[in-house]
Amino acid sequence: MIAVIGGGMVGVATSIRLRQDGQDVILIDPMQSVRAASYGNAGGLTPSSLVPLNVPSLIKRLPRLLLDRQSPLFIRWRHLPRMMPWLLRFLSHATPAKAAAMSNALHALISQCVDEHQALAAGTPAAQLISEREFTVLYANKRAYQSEQYLWKERARLGLRWQIIEGDGVNRLEPELASCARYAVRMGEHGFIADPGQYLEALLSHFQALGGKLLAGSVDHILTEGRAAHAVRVAREEIAVDKVVITAGIGSGKLARMLGLNIPMQSQRGYHVELVEPSFMPKGVVNLSALGIFMTPMVGRLRCTSVVELAACRAPEDKRIYRMMLDKITRTLPQLRWQAVNYWMGHRPSLPDSLPVIGQAPGFDNVYLGYGHGHVGMMSGPRTGRLLADLIAGRTPNIDLAPFDAGRF
Ligand SMILES: Cc1cc2nc3c(=O)[nH]c(=O)nc-3n(C[C@H](O)[C@H](O)[C@H](O)COP(=O)(O)OP(=O)(O)OC[C@H]3O[C@@H](n4cnc5c(N)ncnc54)[C@H](O)[C@@H]3O)c2cc1C
Repeated sequence: MIAVIGGGMVGVATSIRLRQDGQDVILIDPMQSVRAASYGNAGGLTPSSLVPLNVPSLIKRLPRLLLDRQSPLFIRWRHLPRMMPWLLRFLSHATPAKAAAMSNALHALISQCVDEHQALAAGTPAAQLISEREFTVLYANKRAYQSEQYLWKERARLGLRWQIIEGDGVNRLEPELASCARYAVRMGEHGFIADPGQYLEALLSHFQALGGKLLAGSVDHILTEGRAAHAVRVAREEIAVDKVVITAGIGSGKLARMLGLNIPMQSQRGYHVELVEPSFMPKGVVNLSALGIFMTPMVGRLRCTSVVELAACRAPEDKRIYRMMLDKITRTLPQLRWQAVNYWMGHRPSLPDSLPVIGQAPGFDNVYLGYGHGHVGMMSGPRTGRLLADLIAGRTPNIDLAPFDAGRF
């Protein structure tokens, strides 16, 4: 039996792919989905997210980003000493050559994300929640667009194409949002999940319908002997296993450390405010670049996501961030109305080179890792699941997995 630990987007996709290969699979998760990153994210299926945050200009921009109270980057200064080793490694990747290599690897992982989701969800109710739509970035003006030339050059280098819309054209594109923008970029072959929580529930049911087993609980120990894991422990009960796959998002670090693996991970905490029954909805995912806010039309709610907050995982959410997001929205779009607001904070599980680990755990013959997907785990979950299932079945994966090798740390 294969134990998949963690039932977020990555774990559920992996479990389905393994089950489709005829493997005996038990998926273990505490089933408090509301806490998982895969529940509260922006739902963006955006192949243009191939440029990591640690690009060469980051080091120069960092002081201003940290001091500007309106910027979407926050840090809890008293947690800094503990986060420093990770942060220094993260910044050490902000060189032209390393940033280009990270983009190449991210591109390989996410370029087909809409197709990968459609293939995973085909024939299930989850498929109805996948929307194939253009992705729009709204800029105040052309100068604001030009200030992000690095991003656009990288996207062009990797073959992405887009349309530029200026002035009154922006009104036709997203009429309700045009008051804050005179310049827009629109990209096809993008999409979104209209309700990530509901989507995961539907995929979990699909996994069970395929004969997969689900266990509500938290793995607190992985029992090993030599190069093999032979059991996992959940609430004092040992479950014998032939293989283990760790896909526990931010919880993976602890599990990997139990195996003696030293893979540096930090949460890039993110926030959403969700406007219930809003007076208007954008047509697809919109990046309001000046505000640092993504807006995604969800079922009956407009989900607005933002912020990278560097802080310890267990630290409580910072309610000032919600207020800042709502202030920005009401100031920029005073005509927008809503009935209620939902608030959420979650963890982007992030490794210093902005790439996940996908593959066999160093030192083990039967343990596999699939975590650390940072900003792109929702879109890349299905491909990660397919890659892990390929490795376990002995098939050759269709992309080069070297950049994702856990032995790189
Ligand atoms: C604000 C925000 C916006 C985002 N927007 C996007 C976006 O638009 N597109 C995109 O692709 N990505 C986006 N992301 C990133 C994305 O949400 C994550 O990369 C992705 O959800 C990670 O999925 P996961 O399955 O690895 O982890 P999770 O979704 O966190 O799931 C991990 C699961 O493992 C379980 N677990 C943990 N420890 C244990 C244990 N010991 N035993 C058993 N189970 C355990 C947890 O309970 C959880 O259910 C966003 C993230 C945030 C925070």
